[in-house]
Amino acid sequence: MISLYKNDGAKTECLLCPHNCKIAEGKTGICGARKNNGGIIELTTYGVISGYALDPIEKKPLYHFYPGTNILSIGSYGCNMRCDFCQNYNISQRSAAGFTSKTEPEKIVKDALAALNNIGIAFTYNEPVIWFEFVRDTALKARKKGLRTVMVSNGYINKEPLDEIISFTDAFNIDLKAFNNDFYKKLTGADLEPVKNTLKQISGSGKHLEITTLIIPGHNDNEDEMAFQAEWIAHELGKDIPLHLSRYFPMYKREDPATPQEIITKLEAVASKYLNYVYIGNMVSDSGQNTKCPVCGKTVTKRSGYNIRLQNLDQKGKCTGCGTRIYRNFTSFSSSIQN
Ligand code: SF4
Repeated sequence: MISLYKNDGAKTECLLCPHNCKIAEGKTGICGARKNNGGIIELTTYGVISGYALDPIEKKPLYHFYPGTNILSIGSYGCNMRCDFCQNYNISQRSAAGFTSKTEPEKIVKDALAALNNIGIAFTYNEPVIWFEFVRDTALKARKKGLRTVMVSNGYINKEPLDEIISFTDAFNIDLKAFNNDFYKKLTGADLEPVKNTLKQISGSGKHLEITTLIIPGHNDNEDEMAFQAEWIAHELGKDIPLHLSRYFPMYKREDPATPQEIITKLEAVASKYLNYVYIGNMVSDSGQNTKCPVCGKTVTKRSGYNIRLQNLDQKGKCTGCGTRIYRNFTSFSSSIQN
């Protein structure tokens, strides 16, 4: 097991994420969840739950990981980014101080096993990287029972802890918040490069990966930047990595109006020149949600809200029109196919 901090006698440093906080005795790091207690950095949110729900897997969003199933989704408090547009700020931008009720990993696994059409457990809502010990203990127990594990994350983590997370995680949705470092610096308090490294590390591991970008007008909606981003994903990670482009709504400290739908559809067209699966979210209509075979163009999944209709697929997740593999994680859990 790796060490998540080091103490050289003079200072105590957290090694979990690229902030590498040097934390004084009795204080917490930037994330608000990890505290120096006598030279040891402890997780203050172990077992502290902010959200607990059985969600459609598509809500994570994961569109290519056992489509049509559910996943027990849990989260806690705190985050290692400071996004001024955070859509979950009421849990991510507050500490867990004062919360005494704790949930054991065993209880979560038991609930996951009992839940309907459930493939496993997703660590989501706030940032799961900073919840490392609790995620690890729960995920290891879940996998022993045959459950799948998912992380929905901002990807801001150092290499060694990510190696360990990859070892007990089956699928990731990682936010790529923009493809310019100015955005990361000014709007999130973090840096782009470590997130790119995370994406390459996950992709290289062979674990399932999807990416989400929340589009904020005037900040990350430049068409050239989107072309650059999509080309980088295709070249470094692969053309089959699903990219979700999502509309922003005013939240937390940011009051700009919601992203116009036409901006999202323009960026969808740009990204689709490089990537096989580009989806758009938070739209008024269901357009841009379906999955089409990138080779023959047959629609293989129709999505309307969280209603999923799998079609033109064989039992292994291949297109029946041309034999192209669409889904790698499919058969044993996915809903029945309606051909
Ligand atoms: S996980 Fe928290 S305490 Fe550790 S380096 Fe990152 S922000 Fe700092």
